[in-house]
Amino acid sequence: MVSLPIDLRSDTVTRPTDAMRAVMAAAEVGDDQYGEDPSIIRVQERTAELLGKEAALWFPTGTMTNQAALRLLTRPGDDVVVSREAHAVWHEAGASGRNAGVQFTEIGERGAFTAGEFRTACKPQGHFMYPGTTLVEIENTHNRAGGIVFPVGELERICSAARELNVSSYLDGARLWNAAVATGLPPATIAGPFDLVSVCLSKGLGAPGGSLLSGSRELIARVVRERRMLGGAMRQSGVFGAAGLHALEHHYERLAEDHANAALIGETLSACPGILLDPSTVQTNILVFDLAPGAPDAATLVAQARGHGVLLNAFGPRRVRAVTHLDVTTAQCEHAAGVIASLAEGRTL
Ligand SMILES: *Cc1c(COP(=O)(O)O)cnc(C)c1O
Repeated sequence: MVSLPIDLRSDTVTRPTDAMRAVMAAAEVGDDQYGEDPSIIRVQERTAELLGKEAALWFPTGTMTNQAALRLLTRPGDDVVVSREAHAVWHEAGASGRNAGVQFTEIGERGAFTAGEFRTACKPQGHFMYPGTTLVEIENTHNRAGGIVFPVGELERICSAARELNVSSYLDGARLWNAAVATGLPPATIAGPFDLVSVCLSKGLGAPGGSLLSGSRELIARVVRERRMLGGAMRQSGVFGAAGLHALEHHYERLAEDHANAALIGETLSACPGILLDPSTVQTNILVFDLAPGAPDAATLVAQARGHGVLLNAFGPRRVRAVTHLDVTTAQCEHAAGVIASLAEGRTL
């Protein structure tokens, strides 16, 4: 028997491993607001190096990196072009309206859009009537679209269109590592076209917290003040920094296992008549699927699955999300897939 519960609600539910706790306990620390935390300095340098940027700055969360980036790259009243159902639109409690005072224009389909769609959605700057578009934000991988990888060639085309139109570019790369592992490309290739890039250490990499913003030395120097304004400047945060460094070194390559486990679940679910899942959307560690007419609704299925030790998230009235990560084994994923398929078909377990 596999051990229960099997928590597929998110890749944020992982707990630090014993090895990670050991490096956290031993971490060299200092006051990061004086720039004196060696572990934070190291994780910032390592992240900038991996992303091919000049500098990086540590933040407590990815919501805060997103908010700081918006505040840095826009003015209140500006328009920001994003993919449909972006994290900034759905999962940040309306923070962008409050903190940056921007409006969003959601475009494209299934988490992606083309340079042509971007150009069409772009509103001219300096016009008396239009809210000028000053930022394009891309989410890669895209959470609500099922962890899809944004087509790499299109990233280049969109960012060069943005430069031409005097629009800044920002990558919400909370799961950029997954996109890199899935495509086999270095993270720097995916981050390359963007002015600013955010990454999370607390998702698939399994650190207990921490996100970084990365870009030119000039932009990162300016974003320090935004972090302070948002209340995110910390002190001996090297305890987290050390966990992040450990995660980058030891948990990066293994993201491929999470992708393989998600693919395994995807095979079972796409063969189930009660479930509507396009297998081509299962590209990384996230599965977003719909319940077919006749199957239970999402809230019912999630509650029933919990009763059988499988934890999922309802993402809509008939939409469910499952996420694989380093705290679930292949056997657990196979078991969970069987439970979900049975419940969707109304079979008793
Ligand atoms: C998780 C996530 C974030 C950041 O979330 P926090 O919980 O604030 O760390 C940002 N963008 C995307 C796409 C995410 O999935």
